[in-house]
Amino acid sequence: MKMIPVNEPKIGRLESEYLLDALNSGWISSSGKYIDRFEKEFSAFIGTEYAISVCNGTAALETALHGLGVKAGDEIIMPSFTIISCAIAAIRLGAKPVLVDIDPITWNLNPDFLETRISKKTKVVMPVHVFGHSVDMDPILKLQKKYKFKILEDTAESHGAEYKNQRCGSLGDCSTFSFYANKLITTGEGGMVLTNNSEIYEKCLSYKNLYFSKDERFRHEELGYNFRMTNLQAAIGCAQVKRIDEIIDSKISMGRKYAKQLEDINGLRFQEEKNWAKSVYWMYSVELSPSLGLSAEEVRSMLMKEGIETRPFFRGLHSQPSLQKLGLFQNESYPNTDHAYKYGFYLPSGMTLKDSEIRKVTDSLKKVLKNK
Ligand SMILES: *Cc1c(COP(=O)(O)O)cnc(C)c1O
Repeated sequence: MKMIPVNEPKIGRLESEYLLDALNSGWISSSGKYIDRFEKEFSAFIGTEYAISVCNGTAALETALHGLGVKAGDEIIMPSFTIISCAIAAIRLGAKPVLVDIDPITWNLNPDFLETRISKKTKVVMPVHVFGHSVDMDPILKLQKKYKFKILEDTAESHGAEYKNQRCGSLGDCSTFSFYANKLITTGEGGMVLTNNSEIYEKCLSYKNLYFSKDERFRHEELGYNFRMTNLQAAIGCAQVKRIDEIIDSKISMGRKYAKQLEDINGLRFQEEKNWAKSVYWMYSVELSPSLGLSAEEVRSMLMKEGIETRPFFRGLHSQPSLQKLGLFQNESYPNTDHAYKYGFYLPSGMTLKDSEIRKVTDSLKKVLKNK
């Protein structure tokens, strides 16, 4: 049986053409024309002045936190429902991740729970726009005026998504992106930090390139890292940016088809689009109603037998053994995150998904959930 994969990127002729051009030019490390061009074109697309390309989205988070001045002992507030990269970035800089539970409808950080988590040590609040849908940003921006923290938007899952007609990734002090193969646009592996602030830009630039000095190259005033992106990756990125509107349109159109067909399945909910948001439907995410008496894991294994590959939702950061071992999140509970983890999963969401495959997925869901 041929599986319907949960994800598959669509690499076109332009990607091959640019990649070969970069390769043949001899500029195969982190200098070359495609690096500058990818940074310029992607930041112009999102709507920020400065861009710092890096080797992946996890490195982008660490670089951005450094750029925001994060030091040992600072606290970084992030949702409990996110990838471990967010916590790792904070911990590697000696900072402490502090968690906020999510909104059960959008699975995004719930701003109502934010204020009680703010302390004198809070340096950064990190909204993560999950599955292609924006976080409700206004309440966070309002709290920022009162408490003066910095905002880092993790936009790794929401390239081109909007909050009140403004693109995610241009709403805070800086933002990060990933270009991993399953993201909206890809460079294989890759990431970027965006900002409008020249000071943040300079710090990020130094951090990702070992803090070489401008006046005396091999003198290093601070410790950085080698997080550079290659010109080869950037070449693929340039081709992807050229097609980004088309990619987003096709994601949205597939998302609407899923939404329509899932409407009449009882006990299953699709990610809802708030009226202030434009979702790019990065992942076609669903949540089971507990009344079915089935967990996501059980339904996912039944779908697997039907030839449909799916992925589970994030396990909450508070229940990660690696973080608990550090003494973090003892006796803390995040029930909305635990609920999403237990009942949520995402359906095949690749760029090569055909209408007939969407139909097969929704028919199989009906079958395994014993609808009709
Ligand atoms: C994918 C992802 C990252 C990490 O990106 P990598 O390029 O895989 O390191 C960070 N944050 C979120 C929300 C992601 O989905």
